[in-house]
This record gives sequence, C-alpha cells and structure tokens, in this order.
Amino acid sequence: MPKTHEITIVGGGVAGLALAAALDPELWRVTIFEQREKLPTVESAMGMWPIAQKALAYLGLHDLLNAAVPCKKVVISTADGRPLLALRTNIKLLTRPALAQALTDRLPETVKVEHLRIVDIGDLPGDLVIGADGVHSRVRKWHWGTNAHGLDTWVVRGTAAIPPMVGRLTEWWGEGMLFGMSPNMGDSTNWYATVRQNPGLPAEALEEIRFTHRDYPRAVQRVLAATDPEQAVVHRVFTAPLTTSLVRGRAVLIGDAAHGMTPNVARGACESLVDAVTLAHELNNRGIHDGPKAYQRQRLVRGQGVRVGASLMTAVQQSPTLHKIAGVFGPS
Ligand SMILES: Cc1cc2nc3c(=O)[nH]c(=O)nc-3n(C[C@H](O)[C@H](O)[C@H](O)COP(=O)(O)OP(=O)(O)OC[C@H]3O[C@@H](n4cnc5c(N)ncnc54)[C@H](O)[C@@H]3O)c2cc1C
Repeated sequence: MPKTHEITIVGGGVAGLALAAALDPELWRVTIFEQREKLPTVESAMGMWPIAQKALAYLGLHDLLNAAVPCKKVVISTADGRPLLALRTNIKLLTRPALAQALTDRLPETVKVEHLRIVDIGDLPGDLVIGADGVHSRVRKWHWGTNAHGLDTWVVRGTAAIPPMVGRLTEWWGEGMLFGMSPNMGDSTNWYATVRQNPGLPAEALEEIRFTHRDYPRAVQRVLAATDPEQAVVHRVFTAPLTTSLVRGRAVLIGDAAHGMTPNVARGACESLVDAVTLAHELNNRGIHDGPKAYQRQRLVRGQGVRVGASLMTAVQQSPTLHKIAGVFGPS
C-alpha cells in the first residue's frame, strides 16, 4: 500500500469538487471545507468550451455531457439589433446545479466534506492546502497577500420558462450594458445582463433591467417578462490579481482563486475544471513534490492569459468607441 498524504481543499465549488473527484483515493486523504450547506439552486446556464468538455470526460461525466444543450453559434449585435459578429462554436450548456450535483456524485466515498467557513488558513491541517475558494480566496490572501479587484459592473442573470432560440447564443451590446440569451437544460431560456451601477436585490434588479433594457429587441422584453424573480441572481464582477505563481509552500491555487476573470468569454469554470484535472493528474502520477510544480508549468500562463483576454473583451464591449463605430458602419 503506497503512503497516503493529506490534502485540504478550501472551497467546494466547481474547482474544489472536480479536484477531489479526480484525486486517487488510494494516494490521498482529502477533506473539502465548504461554507455553503447546499449546492446552487438557480438554474442558470454555464457554457462549457471543448477544453472543459475534455475535462468532464476525464472525470467520467459522459451522461452529463450527453444531457448538455449544444450551442453551435454565437451572434453579437448592437442594442438595436444590428449584427456585429457571428462565430461558429462547439459549446455545451449545463446548469450550475446539474454540474455541481454531477461532480458531487463523483466524489470517492473517502472524501470528507465539512460545511464550515474557514477563517484561519494557517491553522489548517494537510500536506497540501488547495485554494479553491473563489475570487475572494482567503488562501491567496494568506499566502500571496493579494485581494480581488471589484469592477463597476454588475451581472444580473436568470432563467425564463419559455422555449429558447435553438442552438445559438445571442448577445446585444449597448453602451455600458449587455444582454445575452442562450438555450438551457430543461427547455428554458437562460439570460444575463450587465449594468454599471449596483441594481440591488434580485427582484429590484429584474425591475431595473426591464427598465434599462426597454429599447432592446422584443425577444429580450419577452424573456425578462417571463422571468420569476426567484430565478434571478445578482453579482458584482471581481477579478483576481495577476500572479506569477500558483504554488507557494504547501499552498496551491486553482480556479477563480488563481484567475478569477470577467464573465465575458464564459471561460472561468472551464479553466477551473482544467486546473482541477491537471493538478489531480500530476499529483496522482508525480506525487506531492513534483505534482504541484508540473501543474504550475502547464496552467500558469494559460490561466493568466485567459484572465487578461477576458478583461480585454470586457473593455472592448464597454468602449464608447466601439458603439460609435458600430453606429456609423453597422448595417441598418
Ligand atoms: C454571471 C456569470 C456567468 C458565468 N458564466 C460562465 C460560463 O458560461 N462558463 C464558464 O466557464 N464560466 C462562467 N462563469 C465563471 C464561473 O462561474 C467561475 O469561474 C467558477 O464558478 C469558478 O469556480 P471556483 O470553484 O474556482 O470558484 P467558486 O465557484 O467561487 O467556488 C468557490 C467555493 O468556495 C467556497 N468558499 C469561499 N471561501 C470559503 C471559506 N473561507 N471557507 C469555506 N468555503 C469557502 C464558496 O462558498 C464556493 O462554493 C460565470 C461567472 C459569472 C459571474
């Protein structure tokens, strides 16, 4: 029997659950500390790009992939519906609860899950302490000394019980605002909108979005009218600071703790899944000393690069110049 080591994972979101699911239980004694008592319930969709689909296949989640809704095209238009860009894609859309449940179901029986908010990182047991605790990571704060950066952008998202536009994700870009819509598992429509001021609690935010987006195309009005406030959530957008390392002492960062990014490119959870399976694979194969270094070699530049790319995309989307150019050259 090989010697086992103890791994403490702070955070049982996408990254933490996927890591625990992929670690070999014969080699690692794993404890997850997760402050939330329950899995997410709002059925909003998450786009899984091909790299994340590969990671989900590595985790054996073939049924989940088969149940996901394909999205073959992304269309971006101005707020009044003039096309800016159309891309062919191979995205699969999953709901957050479905992904969280499938990852939880893959946890080996030996993984302990403690529902506890960790305050003092220094007191944690473990040969390795994994910061999978999101963009406001306490593990990163403790070992790297850095805080998340808040943007003057809020995202309101929700689902509407009306049939979606099949196979395509559509975004409308207005000055300082965006509205996006996609199919979702369960034949509903998933939507998200950004605003530049805090829109308040979900019910107020939904009213605010109905007002601020009142001149957007009819499809947007229909989806907003059909949304139950219980199925809406509000987030301020935060990004993680750029970092030159993912490993420090016994601490390792994965997911949003490592590269929390603006949601414009729909890649945060995808990169988190790839982090998790890469780290697990390297730990399972190379062990506790070389595994984290091999993970850092493969994931540092990639994760930070996507994080920067997402911020650039947000800057372009919010740029008044883009909207002036679209106004002059866009077909009417
Ligand atoms: C509006 C929006 C839309 C998005 N759409 C997409 C998309 O389509 N595709 C995509 O790939 N990504 C998308 N993302 C990004 C994605 O949600 C994140 O990148 C992903 O959830 C990161 O996973 P994580 O596990 O690293 O962090 P989190 O999901 O933040 O999980 C961290 C976990 O740690 C727990 N935790 C934190 N601190 C502590 C503590 N001190 N003690 C105990 N537990 C703690 C939290 O409760 C949480 O469960 C979107 C994000 C937003 C905001």
